[in-house]
Amino acid sequence: MSGGGEKRILQDINKNKKNKNFAYFVALTVVPVFAIIVMFSYAFFHIRDSVRFTSHEITGLRVIAQIERAVFNIQKLRGLMCMENTDEKSIENIKTIKENISKDLAILKEYSKFIENDTSLKNELLKYIDSFGNHTLLENTNYYYLTEVIHDFMRFSSRLSYHCKLILDSNFNSYILIDNIVFLLPELIEYNGQIRAVALSTQNSALATNQREYIKTQENKIKEKLEKLNYNLSLYYENRNGNEIKDAHNGALKAQDAIIELVNNEFLNSENLLYEASEIYNITTKNIDSIIDLYNESLKKLNIILEKRLNKDKEISIFIILAGFCSILFIIFINVLFYKRNRKFINKIEELTITDAMTTLHNRRYFDLVFDNLLKSQKRARQTLAFIIVDIDHFKQYNDTYGHQAGDNALKTVANCLKNSLRRDGDFAFRLGGEEFGVLCTGLDDSQAFDFADGIRKKVEEEKVEHKKSTVSRYVTISMGLIVVKPGLVNSVNDVYRYADEALYKAKKNGRNQVVVYNEMQ
Ligand code: GH3
Ligand code: MG
Ligand code: MG
Repeated sequence: MSGGGEKRILQDINKNKKNKNFAYFVALTVVPVFAIIVMFSYAFFHIRDSVRFTSHEITGLRVIAQIERAVFNIQKLRGLMCMENTDEKSIENIKTIKENISKDLAILKEYSKFIENDTSLKNELLKYIDSFGNHTLLENTNYYYLTEVIHDFMRFSSRLSYHCKLILDSNFNSYILIDNIVFLLPELIEYNGQIRAVALSTQNSALATNQREYIKTQENKIKEKLEKLNYNLSLYYENRNGNEIKDAHNGALKAQDAIIELVNNEFLNSENLLYEASEIYNITTKNIDSIIDLYNESLKKLNIILEKRLNKDKEISIFIILAGFCSILFIIFINVLFYKRNRKFINKIEELTITDAMTTLHNRRYFDLVFDNLLKSQKRARQTLAFIIVDIDHFKQYNDTYGHQAGDNALKTVANCLKNSLRRDGDFAFRLGGEEFGVLCTGLDDSQAFDFADGIRKKVEEEKVEHKKSTVSRYVTISMGLIVVKPGLVNSVNDVYRYADEALYKAKKNGRNQVVVYNEMQ
């Protein structure tokens, strides 16, 4: 009974509901999935921008740190070049420092290649490194030239700090460290380097007035920078609740005090210098190196902060992708689940609304739908449609004799006989109401239809459900009115029903337990 033809008709009826169900499924899936894609993409691109920003900063910081490394050595070279009587040790020193500068510049060239988005700054820096490198090799260096180079390099590092957006870092601590690394400490170190160079150029004799004034100016600049440095770092300590660079800071302060003391006791007050030039070089260089230590510690700290931020952002971006992907899968999974359950539910409800609860045959409601449908489709397919009305004989008496419960059981028996007789996809059996049933079959000619109907009649009698009050048989029997509709001959459902009913009436009148074919029309 639940063959393909029946399913097709059911599907036609349910199509609309199922389409709606599918439309809800699509809407409930597509809308949130789209929203999630938009939200997660936004978050992902935001984090990706942050990753790019920090990577850019790290690249810039690497170049700036390398520039400073070269600058610190150039400052030393400048000091040594200022000495008039260079001993063997100094000559050896100059050689080593020159080699170090060459190495620093080679590394700087490598690092500079990674500068993004601004080829002019990169090319300018590379060109400058080359020209300076050649100059240094020619040994044509002096105080003024090297001071100019140092300032040029410092300008490059300042430009890079803007270009690589270090100066725009929104984190307060990073910003303080950047300010110290790019501006404050290099300037502080340069003022000390100037003092070293000027002091070394006098070579044991007292400083000239203009040299003293120059050193005094540098000392004042140092004090000014120190004040700012201390203020910056006090903010940094407050914020970080830690003192990772405090030791280096204290060391730098002590070193700076030592240089200032030397300036006041030696260079500004004494008539003649007490120290040898090489001693002055060693004392000042040792102390400047302590300030450079603070520079290096700050650099290390900043690198750690930036790397941590970069890794965290990268982790977040992976998390965003995974979370977005899982959310989408979850939404699709849940919706598919609900869609399937809904479909099952709709199918079940549909089945219940077309089924007669007692006999499990189709009900009258479904009969009306199918009958109309089949009549139209048999016309198209040029097939016959047989309709049989079945009515139990003397059923009132049966109920009166055996009780209503037994009557129900007899109804079920007859229903089963009908159901079991159906052979093809396009065959249907219905309970039309009370003790009246209907059967629809396609593709049978007159005699086949009669044999089919009579077969059902026999089957019911053979069930041998006792009915002693029946005038027809000892058992429950049925009477049937059959009509075989040729394609296109009868169009109205009502007519077909009426003709079959007329045939049934005849069957009853002729003595019951028989099939009467309606054939007046054909
Ligand atoms: P006929 O041979 O002329 O058809 O006589 P009949 O008694 O079968 O016909 P009638 O229309 O007078 O009676 C039909 C009876 O079917 C009346 C009613 O008690 C019984 N009937 C209808 N529906 C049910 C049902 O669901 N359960 C039971 N037990 N009886 C039903
Ligand atoms: Mg009846
Ligand atoms: Mg009856």
